[in-house]
Amino acid sequence: MSKEKQFVKEITPQSEDFSRWYIDVIKKADLMSYAPVRGCIVFKPDSYEIWENIQKEMDSRFKETGHRNAYFPLFIPESFFQKEKEHVEGFNPELPWVTEAAGEKLEERLAVRPTSETMFGHMYAEWINSYRDLPLLINQWANVVRWEKRTQPFLRTSEFLWQEGHTAHEDEADARRETMQMLEIYRDFAENFLAMPVITGQKTPSEKFAGAVDTYSIEAMMKDGKAVQAGTSHYLGTNFAVAFDIKYLDRDNQHQFCHTTSWGTSTRLIGALIMVHGDDRGLVLPPKVAPTQVIMIPIGPPKTREPVVAKVNELYAELKKAGVRVKVDDREGQSPGWKFNEYEMRGVPIRVELGPRDLEAGQMVLVSRVSGEKKVIRQEDFVQEVQTMLEEIHTAMLEKARQFRDEHMTDVDTMDQFKAFLDEKRGFAYAGWCGSADCEAKVKEETGATSRNIPFQPAVTKTTCICCGQEAKHTVVFGRAY
Ligand code: AMP
Repeated sequence: MSKEKQFVKEITPQSEDFSRWYIDVIKKADLMSYAPVRGCIVFKPDSYEIWENIQKEMDSRFKETGHRNAYFPLFIPESFFQKEKEHVEGFNPELPWVTEAAGEKLEERLAVRPTSETMFGHMYAEWINSYRDLPLLINQWANVVRWEKRTQPFLRTSEFLWQEGHTAHEDEADARRETMQMLEIYRDFAENFLAMPVITGQKTPSEKFAGAVDTYSIEAMMKDGKAVQAGTSHYLGTNFAVAFDIKYLDRDNQHQFCHTTSWGTSTRLIGALIMVHGDDRGLVLPPKVAPTQVIMIPIGPPKTREPVVAKVNELYAELKKAGVRVKVDDREGQSPGWKFNEYEMRGVPIRVELGPRDLEAGQMVLVSRVSGEKKVIRQEDFVQEVQTMLEEIHTAMLEKARQFRDEHMTDVDTMDQFKAFLDEKRGFAYAGWCGSADCEAKVKEETGATSRNIPFQPAVTKTTCICCGQEAKHTVVFGRAY
């Protein structure tokens, strides 16, 4: 057992201190360790496996929609950043630089990539000649570095793992279609894979990506009512095409600038799913992403152990063959009670218990992590029952999270109403916004909440600005955020 794990004796209840709960859970479940470098973490096997499951599923969705993977360099010359003014202004404060290598000062500083629009831009200018080369649809799985002031494991780290898609198109309509398609893939993935309901919408100008024309996001609500921006999709217009000279010859033999997009999700998703689903007993992992979906625990006295374990192993093999991620814990040194707690804390979706009486009766017990519900089933139905239960657990988790979110959403007319809501209940509020950056900044100053996005499907439409009382141009979702 690691020292960190030993150190966390009890998980702090969420209602007492949510941040403490989060750190207790991720340490106790052995998901990560703080690295010796500020803001960096080690993704231990359980969290890395969650990431691998996320990758596998997303990757197949990207490929189904015509994207291919490539790998671009980690180091980006300083001059690349100077080419797009907003981009450099946005990212400069967070860039780490390599100034020296092999004992010599470099002629040009190299940034460790915070995102790769510039590098893709440089290469796309070389690769794209004619409309026949378009659309160009490439994704990269990589690590990036942003020297963040405030960090939190998984949610905001100095180095993180992500995917970044970069595409080039003939015209605005095609690029915008791509931007929306990828946002929809993120929404569907969040809900149908991570059981995490999200609000899709457009970022306000002050919250958009540095260098983008429009940024769209999916926003999730954590159990403390705070927001996590779980993924973003940007329409970049011709900003990067002009900066990097990404041109093509159109059907009339005229030079045109490409319209480009980029979109990304990161290991932040791991933090988000922990905070959306976890409870006072520990992690609750959505079945589709859980490294172990089913844990099988033989129970009963030593004298019946052998036939019980033999039966468990036989059923284990059947389930494994059916493609379920299943493990058996038949260690003799730990009591069943200890094991139950351990796997609950680790968030394994289904626990299977089988003892001597079950053996005789040809039955077994399935226990759902999310509801605690026990189900006695016949052994011959095991595979089918598990598969059904995994589906049911996913649906129940999504519903539970959606219900929580909806209960923590309101709409407000004034700043005072919003402050009272944040103090009493926590969560997001729909509010009208006149469109002025000053009003948006004032909301943040007074309430600590930022505009999350302008939702595509607001539950209500607000007509006056929460700050100045003038006519509202948009209904915005505001919330405090990670
Ligand atoms: P961006 O390129 O800024 O649009 O970021 C793409 C996505 O990466 C965001 O929507 C976040 O989900 C995620 N992200 C941004 N910064 C961090 C960070 N410091 N740590 C982890 N994930 C991040």
